[in-house]
Amino acid sequence: MNTEAEQAQRHRSRMQRQKAVVDAAIARADKSKGLLVILTGNGKGKSSSAFGMAARALGHGMRVGVAQFIKGRSDTGEEAFFRQQKDIIWHVLGEGFTWDTQDLARDKETARKGWAIVQTMLRNESINLLILDELTYLLKFGWLEIDELLAELQNRPAMQHVIITGRAAPEALCAVADTVTEMRDIKHAFQAGIQAQTGIDY
Ligand code: ATP
Ligand code: MG
Repeated sequence: MNTEAEQAQRHRSRMQRQKAVVDAAIARADKSKGLLVILTGNGKGKSSSAFGMAARALGHGMRVGVAQFIKGRSDTGEEAFFRQQKDIIWHVLGEGFTWDTQDLARDKETARKGWAIVQTMLRNESINLLILDELTYLLKFGWLEIDELLAELQNRPAMQHVIITGRAAPEALCAVADTVTEMRDIKHAFQAGIQAQTGIDY
């Protein structure tokens, strides 16, 4: 039977060993660069995670650019909030879900115009963090070629962070990314007939 003192000592030694491992890993991670972060998968949390990082960046005095494609609604809390901030540029580049517009030619034209704006932001050194929200849909519908995207990402300013959200991010994009997270859908309130809730879903 262990005494409490022995248990506490064992815990302390374990934590000391763990700290040594973590400290060594932190010391090894000495590089700094503009990151490409992909947030994909069918679960909830992709766009809201990206906007969480926008808040972090603004808090540090960084400049943030947002390009929102295929926007489902015009009354999101994130847009209302972030538009009040001075260091953010917010572009809405999609007209709505494809099943709402039902006009393929017009959707394609909108997408190409949106991509042209994204290109200018990917060449703008003063944008420290760029969020391309739902960009994967342009790839899925063939409105943007993956090679065109990869070339533009590769040529962006060295310290510019880019976050791309959207379901089904292609392999080739994940391969060149620095951080890739897949949100897995375990359950979602919508499937139980609950409508989108203010502050949680939009
Ligand atoms: P969020 O913006 O909440 O982070 P998301 O970006 O991961 O969600 P999208 O595919 O862009 O997900 O869908 C946006 C909207 O659809 C949000 O209102 C979100 O709550 C809802 N949604 C996300 N995932 C699911 C799901 N698995 N089932 C039903 N609705 C979902
Ligand atoms: Mg989203």
